[in-house]
Amino acid sequence: MTRLFAGTPFDIPPMCDRCGKLEKDCKCPPPPPPRIPPQEQTARVKTEKRQKGKMVTTVSGLPKIGNDLPGLLTQLKTVCGAGGTHKDGILEIQGDHLTRVRETLSKLGYRVK
Ligand SMILES: [Zn+2]
Repeated sequence: MTRLFAGTPFDIPPMCDRCGKLEKDCKCPPPPPPRIPPQEQTARVKTEKRQKGKMVTTVSGLPKIGNDLPGLLTQLKTVCGAGGTHKDGILEIQGDHLTRVRETLSKLGYRVK
């Protein structure tokens, strides 16, 4: 390949370092967001009482960027056999599942408070 504009650094068009195409022609999917190792994070697990006396187990303290919170919620729901939601970076599992949620997070490597 011959470069038409050899000579100065400004003459090199931005290239994608994955497919080698010019950035404007690149169709690569965006890179996955960086993940923070679970070992470097502390999850706060607690139970809360909601209206009509319903208990929920909440997991907070895990940054939205750096974690696959929807994936984590799915795992916790499966382990607890319960429904749950994910809102503003806080995972919420229906019911009192303090022990199971703590165990599951510990197994994944998170520090649990
Ligand atoms: Zn590319």
